[in-house]
Amino acid sequence: MPNKKKKKDKLSFELKNLWTVYSQTEEKTVMTFADEYKAFLKLVKTEREAVDFFRENAKKAGYKCAVSTGKSGKKLYYVNRDHAIAIVRKGKKPVSQGVRIIGAHLDSPRLDLKQKPFFEDSNLSMLKTHYYGGIKKYQWLSRPLAIHGIVIKGNGDKVKISVGEDPGDPVFVIPDLLPHLAKKVQYSKGVSELVSGEQLKILAGQKEVKSEEDKKKLTSFLLELLHSRYGIVQEDFVSADLEVVPADDPRDVGFDRSMVGGYGQDDRVCAYTAFRGMLDSPQLKYTSIAFLIDKEEIGSDGATGAQSNWLADIIADLLQREDKVSDHYTLSRTMHLSEAISADVNAAVNPLFKEVHDIDNAAISGYGIVITKFTGSGGKFSSNEATAEFTAKIRNIFNKAKVQWQFGELGKVDEGGGGTIAKHISKWGIHTIDAGPGLLGMHSPFEIVSKADLWETYKGYSAFFSAE
Ligand code: MN
Ligand code: MN
Repeated sequence: MPNKKKKKDKLSFELKNLWTVYSQTEEKTVMTFADEYKAFLKLVKTEREAVDFFRENAKKAGYKCAVSTGKSGKKLYYVNRDHAIAIVRKGKKPVSQGVRIIGAHLDSPRLDLKQKPFFEDSNLSMLKTHYYGGIKKYQWLSRPLAIHGIVIKGNGDKVKISVGEDPGDPVFVIPDLLPHLAKKVQYSKGVSELVSGEQLKILAGQKEVKSEEDKKKLTSFLLELLHSRYGIVQEDFVSADLEVVPADDPRDVGFDRSMVGGYGQDDRVCAYTAFRGMLDSPQLKYTSIAFLIDKEEIGSDGATGAQSNWLADIIADLLQREDKVSDHYTLSRTMHLSEAISADVNAAVNPLFKEVHDIDNAAISGYGIVITKFTGSGGKFSSNEATAEFTAKIRNIFNKAKVQWQFGELGKVDEGGGGTIAKHISKWGIHTIDAGPGLLGMHSPFEIVSKADLWETYKGYSAFFSAE
Protein backbone atom coordinates (compact mmCIF):
# COMPACT_ATOMS: atom_id res chain seq x y z
CA MET A 1 0.00 0.00 0.00
CA PRO A 2 1.46 3.37 -0.93
CA ASN A 3 2.18 5.23 2.26
CA LYS A 4 2.55 8.86 3.07
CA LYS A 5 6.18 9.42 3.96
CA LYS A 6 7.36 12.73 5.24
CA LYS A 7 10.95 12.34 4.13
CA LYS A 8 11.99 11.22 0.67
CA ASP A 9 13.57 7.82 0.93
CA LYS A 10 15.80 6.63 -1.89
CA LEU A 11 15.37 2.97 -1.01
CA SER A 12 11.63 2.61 -0.88
CA PHE A 13 9.23 2.70 -3.80
CA GLU A 14 7.01 5.61 -3.02
CA LEU A 15 3.76 6.40 -4.81
CA LYS A 16 1.69 9.53 -4.52
CA ASN A 17 -1.96 10.34 -4.87
CA LEU A 18 -1.76 12.15 -8.19
CA TRP A 19 -4.24 14.82 -7.15
CA THR A 20 -1.67 16.03 -4.59
CA VAL A 21 1.00 16.18 -7.31
CA TYR A 22 -0.70 18.08 -10.11
CA SER A 23 -0.27 21.83 -10.44
CA GLN A 24 -3.42 23.85 -11.03
CA THR A 25 -2.55 24.09 -14.71
CA GLU A 26 -1.94 20.37 -15.08
CA GLU A 27 -5.15 19.56 -13.24
CA LYS A 28 -7.01 21.73 -15.72
CA THR A 29 -5.37 19.82 -18.60
CA VAL A 30 -6.33 16.51 -16.97
CA MET A 31 -9.97 17.60 -16.66
CA THR A 32 -10.12 18.85 -20.26
CA PHE A 33 -8.60 15.60 -21.55
CA ALA A 34 -11.24 13.67 -19.56
CA ASP A 35 -14.01 15.76 -21.14
CA GLU A 36 -12.73 14.86 -24.61
CA TYR A 37 -12.57 11.21 -23.55
CA LYS A 38 -16.16 11.34 -22.28
CA ALA A 39 -17.32 12.74 -25.63
CA PHE A 40 -15.65 9.73 -27.29
CA LEU A 41 -17.28 7.26 -24.85
CA LYS A 42 -20.69 8.79 -25.46
CA LEU A 43 -20.31 8.38 -29.21
CA VAL A 44 -18.73 4.93 -29.26
CA LYS A 45 -20.43 1.89 -27.74
CA THR A 46 -19.47 -0.86 -30.17
CA GLU A 47 -16.30 -1.99 -31.96
CA ARG A 48 -17.74 -0.82 -35.30
CA GLU A 49 -18.45 2.64 -33.90
CA ALA A 50 -14.93 2.72 -32.49
CA VAL A 51 -13.48 1.89 -35.93
CA ASP A 52 -15.61 4.67 -37.46
CA PHE A 53 -14.42 7.15 -34.84
CA PHE A 54 -10.72 6.34 -35.21
CA ARG A 55 -10.88 6.17 -39.01
CA GLU A 56 -12.58 9.57 -39.27
CA ASN A 57 -10.21 11.22 -36.82
CA ALA A 58 -7.16 9.61 -38.42
CA LYS A 59 -8.30 10.92 -41.81
CA LYS A 60 -8.67 14.41 -40.35
CA ALA A 61 -5.10 14.16 -39.07
CA GLY A 62 -3.82 13.31 -42.55
CA TYR A 63 -3.71 9.49 -42.33
CA LYS A 64 -4.44 7.62 -45.56
CA CYS A 65 -6.11 4.25 -46.11
CA ALA A 66 -3.22 1.84 -46.76
CA VAL A 67 -5.24 -0.29 -49.17
CA SER A 68 -6.12 2.60 -51.46
CA THR A 69 -2.72 4.25 -51.38
CA GLY A 70 -0.01 2.14 -52.98
CA LYS A 71 2.72 4.52 -51.95
CA SER A 72 4.78 4.34 -48.82
CA GLY A 73 3.10 7.13 -46.87
CA LYS A 74 4.15 8.53 -43.51
CA LYS A 75 0.68 8.14 -42.01
CA LEU A 76 -1.44 5.11 -42.84
CA TYR A 77 -4.37 3.16 -41.47
CA TYR A 78 -5.56 -0.40 -42.07
CA VAL A 79 -9.13 -1.54 -41.40
CA ASN A 80 -10.13 -5.16 -40.84
CA ARG A 81 -13.82 -5.85 -41.66
CA ASP A 82 -14.91 -2.66 -39.85
CA HIS A 83 -14.16 -4.44 -36.55
CA ALA A 84 -10.50 -3.55 -36.05
CA ILE A 85 -8.22 -0.73 -37.13
CA ALA A 86 -4.47 -0.22 -37.09
CA ILE A 87 -3.05 3.29 -37.34
CA VAL A 88 0.55 3.49 -38.47
CA ARG A 89 2.96 6.38 -38.24
CA LYS A 90 6.38 6.15 -39.85
CA GLY A 91 9.43 6.79 -37.73
CA LYS A 92 12.90 7.95 -38.71
CA LYS A 93 14.37 4.43 -38.69
CA PRO A 94 13.47 1.87 -41.35
CA VAL A 95 10.68 -0.57 -40.47
CA SER A 96 13.17 -3.44 -40.70
CA GLN A 97 14.80 -2.15 -37.48
CA GLY A 98 11.61 -2.93 -35.56
CA VAL A 99 8.32 -1.22 -34.80
CA ARG A 100 6.58 0.02 -31.64
CA ILE A 101 3.10 -1.32 -31.05
CA ILE A 102 0.39 -0.39 -28.58
CA GLY A 103 -2.36 -3.00 -28.79
CA ALA A 104 -5.79 -2.37 -27.27
CA HIS A 105 -9.18 -3.96 -27.90
CA LEU A 106 -12.35 -2.30 -29.14
CA ASP A 107 -14.93 -4.93 -28.11
CA SER A 108 -16.65 -4.85 -24.72
CA PRO A 109 -18.95 -7.26 -22.89
CA ARG A 110 -22.55 -6.84 -24.06
CA LEU A 111 -25.68 -8.67 -25.22
CA ASP A 112 -25.97 -9.53 -28.92
CA LEU A 113 -29.41 -9.99 -30.48
CA LYS A 114 -29.98 -13.56 -31.59
CA GLN A 115 -30.37 -14.16 -35.31
CA LYS A 116 -34.02 -15.11 -34.74
CA PRO A 117 -34.69 -12.76 -31.84
CA PHE A 118 -38.47 -12.47 -31.78
CA PHE A 119 -40.36 -13.79 -28.76
CA GLU A 120 -43.72 -12.95 -27.32
CA ASP A 121 -45.48 -13.79 -24.09
CA SER A 122 -48.02 -12.25 -21.73
CA ASN A 123 -48.83 -9.46 -24.14
CA LEU A 124 -45.21 -8.41 -24.38
CA SER A 125 -42.85 -8.47 -27.36
CA MET A 126 -39.31 -9.35 -26.43
CA LEU A 127 -36.03 -9.86 -28.25
CA LYS A 128 -33.75 -12.77 -27.41
CA THR A 129 -30.06 -12.16 -26.83
CA HIS A 130 -26.84 -14.13 -26.50
CA TYR A 131 -24.38 -12.47 -24.16
CA TYR A 132 -20.87 -11.65 -25.37
CA GLY A 133 -17.88 -11.77 -23.03
CA GLY A 134 -17.71 -12.09 -19.28
CA ILE A 135 -20.74 -10.42 -17.74
CA LYS A 136 -22.43 -10.69 -14.37
CA LYS A 137 -25.87 -11.24 -15.84
CA TYR A 138 -27.81 -9.66 -12.97
CA GLN A 139 -26.15 -6.30 -13.67
CA TRP A 140 -28.08 -6.05 -16.95
CA LEU A 141 -31.54 -6.27 -15.37
CA SER A 142 -33.90 -3.31 -14.95
CA ARG A 143 -31.69 -0.68 -16.52
CA PRO A 144 -32.17 1.28 -19.75
CA LEU A 145 -30.58 -0.39 -22.75
CA ALA A 146 -29.91 0.73 -26.33
CA ILE A 147 -29.53 -1.25 -29.57
CA HIS A 148 -26.60 -0.43 -31.85
CA GLY A 149 -25.44 -2.11 -35.02
CA ILE A 150 -26.06 -2.93 -38.62
CA VAL A 151 -28.40 -5.09 -40.65
CA ILE A 152 -27.56 -6.28 -44.16
CA LYS A 153 -30.76 -6.55 -46.17
CA GLY A 154 -31.54 -9.17 -48.80
CA ASN A 155 -30.49 -6.77 -51.58
CA GLY A 156 -27.14 -6.19 -49.86
CA ASP A 157 -27.97 -2.73 -48.51
CA LYS A 158 -26.49 -1.94 -45.11
CA VAL A 159 -28.83 -0.31 -42.57
CA LYS A 160 -27.33 1.32 -39.49
CA ILE A 161 -29.40 1.10 -36.34
CA SER A 162 -28.98 3.08 -33.14
CA VAL A 163 -31.97 3.35 -30.83
CA GLY A 164 -31.90 4.47 -27.22
CA GLU A 165 -29.22 7.17 -27.19
CA ASP A 166 -31.06 10.38 -28.11
CA PRO A 167 -33.09 11.79 -25.20
CA GLY A 168 -36.23 11.41 -27.33
CA ASP A 169 -35.53 7.75 -28.16
CA PRO A 170 -37.27 4.83 -26.49
CA VAL A 171 -35.03 2.42 -24.56
CA PHE A 172 -35.17 -1.32 -23.90
CA VAL A 173 -35.04 -3.23 -20.63
CA ILE A 174 -34.76 -6.71 -19.15
CA PRO A 175 -37.32 -6.53 -16.33
CA ASP A 176 -36.08 -8.01 -13.06
CA LEU A 177 -38.29 -9.91 -10.62
CA LEU A 178 -39.92 -7.97 -7.78
CA PRO A 179 -38.45 -8.75 -4.31
CA HIS A 180 -41.88 -9.78 -3.06
CA LEU A 181 -41.84 -12.89 -5.25
CA ALA A 182 -38.11 -13.55 -5.41
CA LYS A 183 -37.87 -15.78 -2.34
CA LYS A 184 -37.69 -19.14 -4.10
CA VAL A 185 -36.80 -18.21 -7.69
CA GLN A 186 -33.85 -15.95 -6.86
CA TYR A 187 -32.92 -15.66 -3.15
CA SER A 188 -32.23 -19.36 -2.79
CA LYS A 189 -29.68 -19.29 -5.63
CA GLY A 190 -26.09 -18.24 -6.09
CA VAL A 191 -25.44 -14.94 -7.85
CA SER A 192 -24.40 -16.61 -11.09
CA GLU A 193 -27.77 -18.41 -11.30
CA LEU A 194 -29.94 -15.40 -10.41
CA VAL A 195 -30.81 -15.05 -14.05
CA SER A 196 -29.97 -17.44 -16.88
CA GLY A 197 -28.49 -16.59 -20.27
CA GLU A 198 -31.77 -17.46 -21.97
CA GLN A 199 -33.67 -15.15 -19.61
CA LEU A 200 -31.77 -12.14 -20.94
CA LYS A 201 -34.58 -11.05 -23.24
CA ILE A 202 -35.18 -7.36 -23.79
CA LEU A 203 -38.59 -5.74 -23.69
CA ALA A 204 -39.24 -4.32 -27.15
CA GLY A 205 -42.95 -3.52 -27.32
CA GLN A 206 -46.55 -4.29 -26.50
CA LYS A 207 -49.84 -4.22 -28.25
CA GLU A 208 -53.27 -4.52 -26.75
CA VAL A 209 -54.66 -7.83 -27.88
CA LYS A 210 -57.89 -9.51 -26.94
CA SER A 211 -58.12 -12.72 -28.89
CA GLU A 212 -55.73 -15.64 -29.24
CA GLU A 213 -55.50 -14.88 -32.93
CA ASP A 214 -54.49 -11.29 -32.30
CA LYS A 215 -51.79 -12.40 -29.91
CA LYS A 216 -49.94 -13.86 -32.83
CA LYS A 217 -49.84 -10.39 -34.29
CA LEU A 218 -47.48 -9.10 -31.62
CA THR A 219 -44.46 -10.12 -33.59
CA SER A 220 -45.83 -8.89 -36.86
CA PHE A 221 -46.68 -5.55 -35.25
CA LEU A 222 -43.05 -5.13 -34.24
CA LEU A 223 -41.91 -6.35 -37.64
CA GLU A 224 -44.20 -3.88 -39.37
CA LEU A 225 -42.74 -1.10 -37.30
CA LEU A 226 -39.18 -2.19 -38.10
CA HIS A 227 -40.08 -2.49 -41.77
CA SER A 228 -41.64 0.93 -42.00
CA ARG A 229 -38.75 2.56 -40.14
CA TYR A 230 -35.74 0.66 -41.50
CA GLY A 231 -37.10 -1.34 -44.43
CA ILE A 232 -35.99 -4.60 -42.82
CA VAL A 233 -37.77 -7.95 -42.68
CA GLN A 234 -37.44 -10.89 -40.29
CA GLU A 235 -34.93 -12.76 -42.47
CA ASP A 236 -32.60 -9.73 -42.42
CA PHE A 237 -31.89 -10.30 -38.72
CA VAL A 238 -29.92 -13.39 -39.70
CA SER A 239 -27.35 -11.13 -41.41
CA ALA A 240 -27.09 -8.55 -38.64
CA ASP A 241 -24.64 -7.42 -35.97
CA LEU A 242 -26.95 -5.90 -33.38
CA GLU A 243 -25.57 -5.19 -29.93
CA VAL A 244 -27.53 -4.33 -26.80
CA VAL A 245 -25.57 -1.90 -24.62
CA PRO A 246 -26.32 0.36 -21.63
CA ALA A 247 -28.21 3.47 -22.78
CA ASP A 248 -26.59 5.73 -20.18
CA ASP A 249 -24.16 8.52 -21.04
CA PRO A 250 -20.71 8.64 -19.45
CA ARG A 251 -20.70 10.90 -16.37
CA ASP A 252 -18.30 12.48 -13.94
CA VAL A 253 -18.22 10.56 -10.67
CA GLY A 254 -17.77 12.16 -7.24
CA PHE A 255 -18.24 15.66 -5.80
CA ASP A 256 -14.75 16.52 -7.00
CA ARG A 257 -15.43 15.10 -10.50
CA SER A 258 -12.20 13.12 -10.19
CA MET A 259 -13.46 10.04 -12.02
CA VAL A 260 -15.30 9.06 -15.19
CA GLY A 261 -18.05 6.46 -15.08
CA GLY A 262 -19.38 4.87 -18.23
CA TYR A 263 -19.83 1.74 -20.31
CA GLY A 264 -17.11 0.08 -22.40
CA GLN A 265 -14.03 1.57 -20.78
CA ASP A 266 -12.47 -1.91 -20.90
CA ASP A 267 -10.78 -1.42 -23.22
CA ARG A 268 -11.71 1.73 -25.09
CA VAL A 269 -9.91 3.80 -22.45
CA CYS A 270 -6.66 2.27 -23.74
CA ALA A 271 -7.68 2.49 -27.41
CA TYR A 272 -8.44 6.20 -26.99
CA THR A 273 -5.27 7.06 -25.08
CA ALA A 274 -3.12 5.01 -27.51
CA PHE A 275 -4.70 6.77 -30.49
CA ARG A 276 -4.27 10.20 -28.93
CA GLY A 277 -0.72 9.30 -27.94
CA MET A 278 0.12 8.41 -31.53
CA LEU A 279 -1.43 11.53 -33.05
CA ASP A 280 -0.04 13.96 -30.50
CA SER A 281 3.52 12.62 -30.27
CA PRO A 282 6.30 14.66 -31.86
CA GLN A 283 8.48 13.00 -34.51
CA LEU A 284 8.91 9.28 -33.88
CA LYS A 285 12.15 7.36 -33.98
CA TYR A 286 10.52 4.00 -34.70
CA THR A 287 7.54 3.30 -36.91
CA SER A 288 4.61 2.95 -34.56
CA ILE A 289 1.31 1.10 -34.70
CA ALA A 290 -1.83 1.72 -32.65
CA PHE A 291 -3.23 -1.79 -33.06
CA LEU A 292 -6.91 -1.64 -32.10
CA ILE A 293 -8.34 -5.11 -32.27
CA ASP A 294 -11.61 -7.01 -31.79
CA LYS A 295 -12.76 -10.22 -30.04
CA GLU A 296 -10.49 -9.94 -26.97
CA GLU A 297 -13.42 -10.50 -24.63
CA ILE A 298 -14.15 -13.89 -26.22
CA GLY A 299 -10.61 -15.19 -26.56
CA SER A 300 -9.13 -13.13 -29.43
CA ASP A 301 -10.22 -15.73 -31.99
CA GLY A 302 -11.29 -15.14 -35.57
CA ALA A 303 -10.09 -12.95 -38.41
CA THR A 304 -10.48 -9.72 -36.42
CA GLY A 305 -8.99 -11.03 -33.16
CA ALA A 306 -5.41 -10.79 -31.96
CA GLN A 307 -4.82 -14.49 -32.62
CA SER A 308 -5.16 -13.85 -36.36
CA ASN A 309 -2.15 -13.07 -38.55
CA TRP A 310 -3.29 -9.49 -39.08
CA LEU A 311 -0.46 -7.84 -37.14
CA ALA A 312 2.12 -9.82 -39.14
CA ASP A 313 0.27 -8.97 -42.37
CA ILE A 314 0.50 -5.26 -41.55
CA ILE A 315 4.20 -5.39 -40.71
CA ALA A 316 4.88 -7.41 -43.87
CA ASP A 317 2.97 -4.81 -45.88
CA LEU A 318 5.00 -1.99 -44.29
CA LEU A 319 8.25 -3.81 -45.13
CA GLN A 320 7.09 -4.39 -48.69
CA ARG A 321 6.16 -0.72 -49.16
CA GLU A 322 9.49 0.45 -47.85
CA ASP A 323 12.08 -2.09 -48.94
CA LYS A 324 10.15 -4.23 -51.43
CA VAL A 325 11.18 -7.17 -49.23
CA SER A 326 8.83 -9.02 -46.92
CA ASP A 327 10.12 -12.59 -46.93
CA HIS A 328 9.73 -14.74 -43.85
CA TYR A 329 13.23 -14.06 -42.60
CA THR A 330 12.95 -10.27 -42.87
CA LEU A 331 9.52 -10.31 -41.24
CA SER A 332 10.55 -12.48 -38.31
CA ARG A 333 13.73 -10.47 -37.76
CA THR A 334 11.64 -7.28 -37.72
CA MET A 335 9.26 -8.87 -35.20
CA HIS A 336 12.12 -9.82 -32.88
CA LEU A 337 13.37 -6.22 -32.96
CA SER A 338 9.89 -4.88 -32.16
CA GLU A 339 8.39 -3.84 -28.85
CA ALA A 340 4.80 -3.68 -27.65
CA ILE A 341 2.58 -2.54 -24.85
CA SER A 342 -0.51 -4.68 -24.48
CA ALA A 343 -2.77 -1.81 -23.46
CA ASP A 344 -5.52 -3.13 -21.25
CA VAL A 345 -7.14 -2.28 -17.98
CA ASN A 346 -6.35 -3.74 -14.56
CA ALA A 347 -8.51 -4.01 -11.44
CA ALA A 348 -8.17 -1.04 -9.09
CA VAL A 349 -8.70 -1.95 -5.44
CA ASN A 350 -12.37 -1.65 -4.54
CA PRO A 351 -12.61 -0.92 -0.80
CA LEU A 352 -15.81 -2.95 -0.64
CA PHE A 353 -14.06 -6.11 -1.82
CA LYS A 354 -10.47 -5.60 -0.71
CA GLU A 355 -9.98 -9.24 0.24
CA VAL A 356 -9.48 -10.35 -3.39
CA HIS A 357 -6.21 -8.38 -3.64
CA ASP A 358 -2.73 -8.62 -2.25
CA ILE A 359 -2.68 -4.91 -1.47
CA ASP A 360 1.12 -4.63 -1.89
CA ASN A 361 0.80 -5.84 -5.46
CA ALA A 362 -2.51 -4.26 -6.41
CA ALA A 363 -3.44 -1.20 -8.47
CA ILE A 364 -4.72 1.81 -6.53
CA SER A 365 -7.09 4.23 -8.26
CA GLY A 366 -5.49 7.65 -8.77
CA TYR A 367 -1.89 6.41 -8.46
CA GLY A 368 -1.09 6.20 -12.16
CA ILE A 369 -0.78 3.77 -15.07
CA VAL A 370 -0.42 0.16 -13.95
CA ILE A 371 2.44 -1.97 -15.24
CA THR A 372 1.46 -5.64 -15.21
CA LYS A 373 4.42 -7.95 -15.77
CA PHE A 374 2.22 -11.00 -16.17
CA THR A 375 -1.47 -11.84 -16.33
CA GLY A 376 -3.04 -15.30 -16.41
CA SER A 377 -4.36 -17.38 -13.53
CA GLY A 378 -3.52 -20.34 -11.33
CA GLY A 379 0.26 -19.99 -11.25
CA LYS A 380 0.69 -17.53 -14.14
CA PHE A 381 -0.92 -20.07 -16.47
CA SER A 382 -1.70 -18.81 -19.98
CA SER A 383 0.26 -15.61 -19.55
CA ASN A 384 2.83 -13.60 -21.41
CA GLU A 385 5.35 -12.68 -18.79
CA ALA A 386 7.50 -9.70 -19.73
CA THR A 387 11.22 -10.20 -19.11
CA ALA A 388 12.87 -8.25 -16.31
CA GLU A 389 14.93 -6.49 -19.00
CA PHE A 390 11.91 -5.27 -20.95
CA THR A 391 10.07 -4.33 -17.76
CA ALA A 392 13.10 -2.23 -16.80
CA LYS A 393 13.07 -0.54 -20.20
CA ILE A 394 9.39 0.43 -19.89
CA ARG A 395 9.87 1.61 -16.31
CA ASN A 396 12.74 3.83 -17.45
CA ILE A 397 10.78 5.25 -20.39
CA PHE A 398 7.98 6.17 -17.97
CA ASN A 399 10.36 7.61 -15.37
CA LYS A 400 12.16 9.71 -17.96
CA ALA A 401 8.86 11.14 -19.20
CA LYS A 402 7.70 11.75 -15.58
CA VAL A 403 4.79 9.35 -15.94
CA GLN A 404 3.54 8.14 -12.57
CA TRP A 405 3.21 4.37 -12.76
CA GLN A 406 2.51 1.61 -10.28
CA PHE A 407 2.74 -2.17 -10.36
CA GLY A 408 -0.42 -4.22 -10.25
CA GLU A 409 -1.25 -7.90 -10.36
CA LEU A 410 -4.81 -8.98 -11.15
CA GLY A 411 -5.88 -10.16 -7.71
CA LYS A 412 -4.43 -12.51 -5.11
CA VAL A 413 -2.67 -15.72 -6.13
CA ASP A 414 -5.35 -18.29 -7.03
CA GLU A 415 -8.15 -15.76 -6.51
CA GLY A 416 -9.16 -15.83 -10.18
CA GLY A 417 -7.40 -14.07 -13.01
CA GLY A 418 -7.62 -13.15 -16.65
CA GLY A 419 -5.60 -12.47 -19.75
CA THR A 420 -5.06 -9.86 -22.42
CA ILE A 421 -3.79 -9.85 -26.00
CA ALA A 422 -0.18 -9.73 -24.69
CA LYS A 423 0.46 -13.42 -25.37
CA HIS A 424 -0.87 -13.14 -28.92
CA ILE A 425 1.52 -10.29 -29.69
CA SER A 426 4.54 -11.81 -27.97
CA LYS A 427 4.19 -15.13 -29.81
CA TRP A 428 5.74 -13.37 -32.84
CA GLY A 429 8.89 -12.68 -30.86
CA ILE A 430 7.86 -9.13 -30.01
CA HIS A 431 8.93 -7.86 -26.55
CA THR A 432 5.57 -7.31 -24.83
CA ILE A 433 4.32 -5.99 -21.51
CA ASP A 434 0.89 -5.07 -20.15
CA ALA A 435 0.19 -1.51 -19.03
CA GLY A 436 -3.03 0.45 -18.60
CA PRO A 437 -5.22 2.16 -16.02
CA GLY A 438 -7.01 0.43 -13.15
CA LEU A 439 -10.80 0.33 -13.28
CA LEU A 440 -13.43 -0.05 -10.59
CA GLY A 441 -16.42 -2.21 -11.51
CA MET A 442 -14.68 -3.70 -14.56
CA HIS A 443 -17.02 -5.48 -17.01
CA SER A 444 -20.05 -3.85 -15.40
CA PRO A 445 -22.36 -1.56 -17.40
CA PHE A 446 -20.82 1.42 -15.56
CA GLU A 447 -17.06 1.13 -15.21
CA ILE A 448 -15.06 3.78 -13.37
CA VAL A 449 -11.64 5.24 -14.15
CA SER A 450 -9.74 7.95 -12.30
CA LYS A 451 -9.11 10.96 -14.53
CA ALA A 452 -5.58 11.03 -13.13
CA ASP A 453 -4.96 7.44 -14.28
CA LEU A 454 -6.49 8.27 -17.67
CA TRP A 455 -4.02 11.13 -18.02
CA GLU A 456 -0.97 9.15 -16.86
CA THR A 457 -1.94 6.35 -19.27
CA TYR A 458 -2.03 8.84 -22.14
CA LYS A 459 1.35 10.21 -21.03
CA GLY A 460 2.76 6.69 -20.73
CA TYR A 461 1.64 5.60 -24.20
CA SER A 462 2.90 8.86 -25.73
CA ALA A 463 6.26 8.31 -24.05
CA PHE A 464 6.48 4.74 -25.38
CA PHE A 465 5.71 5.83 -28.94
CA SER A 466 8.24 8.65 -28.92
CA ALA A 467 10.98 6.92 -26.89
CA GLU A 468 14.49 6.55 -28.33
MN1 MN B 1 -9.67 -5.72 -21.62
MN1 MN C 1 -12.31 -7.36 -20.39
